[in-house]
Amino acid sequence: MNENVMYSIVVPLYNEELVIDESYRRLKKVMDSTLENYEIIFINDGSSDKTREKTEKICSEDENIRLINFSRNFGHQCAITAGMENSIGQAVVVIDADLQDPPEVILDMINKWKEGYDVVYGKRAKREGESFFKRFTARSFYRLLKSMTSIDIPVDTGDFRLIDRKVCNALNSLPEKNRYVRGLVSWVGYKQTFVEFVRHERFAGDSKYPLKKMMKLAFDGITSFSYKPLMLAGYLGGLSLFIGIVSIIVEFTKCILQKTSIVNFGLIISIDLIMFGIILSCMGIIGQYIGRIFDESKGRPNYVIENIVNKAFERK
Ligand code: UDP
Ligand code: MG
Repeated sequence: MNENVMYSIVVPLYNEELVIDESYRRLKKVMDSTLENYEIIFINDGSSDKTREKTEKICSEDENIRLINFSRNFGHQCAITAGMENSIGQAVVVIDADLQDPPEVILDMINKWKEGYDVVYGKRAKREGESFFKRFTARSFYRLLKSMTSIDIPVDTGDFRLIDRKVCNALNSLPEKNRYVRGLVSWVGYKQTFVEFVRHERFAGDSKYPLKKMMKLAFDGITSFSYKPLMLAGYLGGLSLFIGIVSIIVEFTKCILQKTSIVNFGLIISIDLIMFGIILSCMGIIGQYIGRIFDESKGRPNYVIENIVNKAFERK
């Protein structure tokens, strides 16, 4: 059964006890309709609820289902990386567990793949049931990232996509940490296309992506694919130097014309605050890059696996 697996479906799980059964039911229904061999790889990203027990039960009843248990929460991008690295299918689909990405769209992706495309990503034509803040920040971020990079990272797409085995192998060979997987998929190239879909409301439970995790993902995306923030630090330095020179000339001229003292504490403190603000912001930007260089130099793995249930045999 493990040999000749056509499709691998990679599903990250973090505290999804309310969602896992329905997610499995919908995915199984869709994948059974293909009449081809498949595996569904659930990655339990250190859940603290009943996600693990519930998924282990599913595994004990269905040999097509695998479960990778992480030793703790490593994050969504690490979870999908582990799924891709442990997949054996000819085509690999990454999909969220919460049914915001409708499993039925996988069939459209498979059709495109059979037409000869190597990457078929899901493009969100509409987002339902998400807050204005989430929609606004996501929309702005995708556009900001696009304007900053030379690689064509499509806007309004998440990690819901199908990739061919050769694309998956190329991604698995990239050793980088702090992965922004959707950007890496664009980076590796190959023949890419998209299918549009409506992103529905979460089936149950709350988002597992609080602002802190969203910010981390956004910084990973930007720092992995753009040097522009570092250049911005240089531009701001140039701008503040220019303002400083102009203000000195203005002050000297006033001093000579009005025959007053050059010392103006209010002005000096304001300029100092602006300068400190600019310098510290620039150091913060540089820090984002240095922190990531530090992560690379440590060479730690992206995740630690505690165990795998229903592990697939190695591809022959
Ligand atoms: N997820 C994960 N690890 C995390 C956070 C999220 O594996 O640390 C999973 C989560 O279970 C879901 C997917 O990543 O399957 C997307 O998360 P979520 O739906 O909460 O994000 P949102 O759609 O709100 O951006
Ligand atoms: Mg979601």
